[in-house]
Amino acid sequence: MDLDKLQTTLEELGQPAYRFKQIKLAMYRDLKEGFDAIENIPMALRQDLDRLLPFNELILKTEQKSLDGSGKNLFFTCDDLAIESVLIKHGDGSRTVCVSTEAGCQIDCSFCATGHLGFKRVLTQFEIAEQVLSFARELKAKGEKVTNVVFMGMGEPFLNYDNVKQAILLLNDKDGFNLGQRRISVSTSGIVPGIERFTAEDWQVNLAISLHASSNVLRSRLMPINKTYPLEKLMPTLDAYVAKTNRKLMIEYLLLGELNDSSRNADALADLIHRYEEVLRLSVVNLIIYNPVNDSSGHPDRFKAPRPASLRAFEEVLTKREIAWTRRASFGGDISGACGQLAGEEVSKE
Ligand code: SAH
Ligand code: SF4
Repeated sequence: MDLDKLQTTLEELGQPAYRFKQIKLAMYRDLKEGFDAIENIPMALRQDLDRLLPFNELILKTEQKSLDGSGKNLFFTCDDLAIESVLIKHGDGSRTVCVSTEAGCQIDCSFCATGHLGFKRVLTQFEIAEQVLSFARELKAKGEKVTNVVFMGMGEPFLNYDNVKQAILLLNDKDGFNLGQRRISVSTSGIVPGIERFTAEDWQVNLAISLHASSNVLRSRLMPINKTYPLEKLMPTLDAYVAKTNRKLMIEYLLLGELNDSSRNADALADLIHRYEEVLRLSVVNLIIYNPVNDSSGHPDRFKAPRPASLRAFEEVLTKREIAWTRRASFGGDISGACGQLAGEEVSKE
């Protein structure tokens, strides 16, 4: 629901001010599914609102479930744009929702299905937050909860900074969804002014950087944004982020077979990190295995996953060079659950 529209609609209906909060709580805290389910407001008002305002900004089109219990939801916006979100169930009981921040993406990284879709528009704070609500309602029926939210779906969060920030505050609101800031992470392709703004925020939200390469030549080939914000601009900005926030930075490194997955690449990555004292002190490299993108867009770049032996060798080099690393647990492979693959399939079928 667009809470700004709710506010004006309630005013137009001459409703007392506390109604706004009642309805917001019903949606974000009690996870109600429609106006008719909000029993503490008068029936006539429920009917008026139902007529005047959509309860959900997003229409859930399909739900896919993975064998491991993870899931992917396809939504349509009111103006008919397809977006996707993923629920990742981890063995430790955590339930992470990966949300989209834009329909499509302006950055167009060569390995990314979302990038290939082109860019439609940024999502509103309500469209972003409702992706989380959708999974939260489903989990609630099983006595479970969303424990983490990552802004790693379609789109570049820092090219939609204001709405992303508002969505974070909505989800964090103590009188609402009440998800701790430390349980929220935002991933960027490296928009330097966005990272600077994020650094200046007075909050505990986590930052992840999609690095994927440690030389400008290769990074610019994979991620055109590197031409605007090359490593010599990006890395000092990240160093300043860690220095100011004292929060651990997640460095995402997508392993592409025979492109950035050799032992030499691992050494180069370690060299780069060692050059930035704060990043070295408080970062962890998250290794992601490339998930093939089956698109028919005729994109010139073709990629493959790393061979298991290269992966092991890469990890050994990082360990030897005293770089903290983890491997992203693969999840939902059977539903193309990888964040970078969102909305590709449905749209290419149409
Ligand atoms: N635009 C932001 C956040 C969304 S992308 C960013 O780029 O950081 C989310 C993550 O999915 C990125 O780390 C991206 O590298 C990864 N990704 C994209 N395509 C992928 C693919 N085909 N296989 C695996 N991960 C992919
Ligand atoms: Fe956009 Fe991120 Fe995909 Fe790059 S990886 S095209 S920034 S969504």
